[in-house]
Amino acid sequence: MKKEEKFYYEVHVYGRNGFSTSIVSDFELDEDERINLAVKQGRIDSEDVEYVDYTGELSFDEWDEHFNFDKDLLKKQIELQEEMQSKGLNLVTCGNCGTTIIHKTHSEEISCHGCGFKSEPCDFPDLFYMPSINR
Ligand SMILES: [Zn+2]
Repeated sequence: MKKEEKFYYEVHVYGRNGFSTSIVSDFELDEDERINLAVKQGRIDSEDVEYVDYTGELSFDEWDEHFNFDKDLLKKQIELQEEMQSKGLNLVTCGNCGTTIIHKTHSEEISCHGCGFKSEPCDFPDLFYMPSINR
């Protein structure tokens, strides 16, 4: 594998459940192209685009260390979260302050114990969800 001929980029999304993801490209990309590629590859959702606060180029070693090592472990976390959901509980983060909250999956409204924010479940993203990992 000719790792050194590829370009590794980090794309960071703030707010909601802020996360970093990464893309690998054969070509050097400017910021807009990095974001477009991240959407195209399913690393971030199209509605995440307006929440991207920075992108950056990484060396292969940085990319490997930050984004490659934990892929399988993170998939296991998602599986465990799905197991919780199947039993009626979910682990989410507050869309306002980021506090971790457990709630019943059928709740129509969630209240954050960290900041008092009260809203529908769609404003409380799952703690672990697919676009936050490299697939
Ligand atoms: Zn909160």
